Formats: sequence, C-alpha cells, structure tokens
Amino acid sequence: SVVPDYLAEVLGDAESDTSGAQAGYIPELATADPDRLAVVFATVDGTVHGAGDVDAAFTIQSISKPFVYAMALSDRGFDRVLAKVGVEPSGEAFNEISLESETGRPRNPMINAGAITAHSLAGPENLKPVERVDRVVQGLSAFAGRQLTVDETVCGSEMENAHRNLAIAHMLRSHDILTEDPRTVVDGYIRQCSVLVTTRDLAMMAATLANSGVNPLSNEQVVDAAVVRQVLSVMATCGMYDAAGDWATQVGIPAKSGVAGGLIGALPGQLGIATFSPRLDRHGNSVRGVSLFERFSYDMGLHVMEVP
Ligand code: GLN
Repeated sequence: SVVPDYLAEVLGDAESDTSGAQAGYIPELATADPDRLAVVFATVDGTVHGAGDVDAAFTIQSISKPFVYAMALSDRGFDRVLAKVGVEPSGEAFNEISLESETGRPRNPMINAGAITAHSLAGPENLKPVERVDRVVQGLSAFAGRQLTVDETVCGSEMENAHRNLAIAHMLRSHDILTEDPRTVVDGYIRQCSVLVTTRDLAMMAATLANSGVNPLSNEQVVDAAVVRQVLSVMATCGMYDAAGDWATQVGIPAKSGVAGGLIGALPGQLGIATFSPRLDRHGNSVRGVSLFERFSYDMGLHVMEVP
C-alpha cells in the first residue's frame, strides 16, 4: 500500500508548524509534550494505517461528546434526548454560557452545555452517578474495541478548575434540564472527558461511526445506524464549534475535536481518520490537526459534497 508512505510524508510536512498552544485552563494538559504528532486511517473493513506517535495516550476530552450523545439516544430514545438538547449550530465557543431562550435547552450536544446534559442521559433512568460513569466508559470502550480507563490526574486537575462547567450545570439545573445535583453531573462529565485514548483508538471509534455503528475489528454493533446518522449530522454542523463553517467548506468531513489535541473525522461507508497534536487554535481545535485534515481532504477528494 502507498498509504503509509503518504501519511509519513504529510506528517513530515506538518512538523514545522509550531503555532498555537496547549489548553491552559486544565493545568495538567499544559504539561503535555507539544511536539507529539500522529495520524491513523482505519477503513470500515478493518485495515489500519498510521504514522507518528500512534500509540501515545492522551485524554479524549470533547471527542467523547458525539459518542456519549449516541449512548443517550440509544438508552433513552430520540424524543427524550431531543426534548433536552437541540441540534442547531451555536456559532459560539465550546464553553459558552448560553441556552435556547424559549426552551432552556442547550443548542446542541457538541458544546459543553449540551454534552453535560447528554452525559446525564446516558444509561437507563435512576442510575447511580458511578454506574452512569461506568456505562459511559464501557460505551466508549465498545466504540474503540478495547477496554479504556480514566486518567485520574487530568480528571482531578480539571475538576479543581471546573468553575465554568459548574456555572453551566447550575444554569441547566435552574431550567430543569438537569434534575440532579449539578456538581455530580459535572464530575461524571469530566471523568468522561478524562478517558485515555491513543490516535489508533480514536481512528477505530471514528471507523465505527463510518461503519453504521459496527466496530470493524470486534464486529460489535455498538449503536444502531439511525443513531449514527443523527450523530454524524450533528458532528458535521456543530463538531468544530465556531469554526464549523470553515471546516465544512474546506474539509467537508463530519468531525470532532478535543482540547488535548485529538481530532476525528468519519466518512460514512469508507473510513475513520484521527490525528493528534496538542497545540490548539483560538477555537480550541488542534492547529496541525486542522491542516492535516485539509490536506487529506484535498489530496484524496474526501469532501462529502464532492462527487468521488
Ligand atoms: N473537558 C473539557 C471541558 O469541558 C473538554 C473541552 C473540549 O475538549 N473542547 O472544558
């Protein structure tokens, strides 16, 4: 295959770009090695190609959001989830403190307000908080096709500085979008964000979305195809926050970023792509990740609006 050489070449070209900076508001993330760089392609038939630090572990952060939204849709049904979280792009930063004015709903499940709400909807009703976290970690593991664990250091570091997410959760509680203790829900959400993954794991998770919810290696149907359609639609419109429009035009692949530097894209019926590079742009998206995806989309004609 020519793919490994191509991936190595593209990574080499990306190395010189050292612009951007690690997330500073989670102190533990600021200590990450900023020069780490990786890419993995995983096709729906289970072929995996990668280059760079493909097995370096980092926290999943906001890349957990589409997967936990998928779990909420599966566990509670579309109506119950849509009553509490919308599907409109916000055009705002990921941690914006704002809700829809009439309903009090978060605008979509990719921003923190919607993701904290989606976390509260994972698993059946009346689960204890620890059981819900367990359902989420097991669900993320099923998408990845191997057992994942929580990085307690990153989790503690974010929890100590979680004032903004706590503010969001209290606001959600005041609108009865959340019905339990806001602190407990934020604690669970931050555990969800602190799950350790590698670029290889993220590519498999993205490939599971590309493969209508079936993990290409384990062959497990993790969520059904209708759920995946909903999740990919929301990723396409909201996954890159206030850079979603630039991304849609220049890359054109349903995607999700995380503040530890991960980035995934899923091309339905074809392929999952993941990149890792910790320096972020002003939207909180990985600088090199965005330029790698632009390059892949252009070189291989991956834009979903383009006739192959
Ligand atoms: N845990 C992070 C937060 O809630 C996730 C943000 C992100 O990755 N964009 O702020």
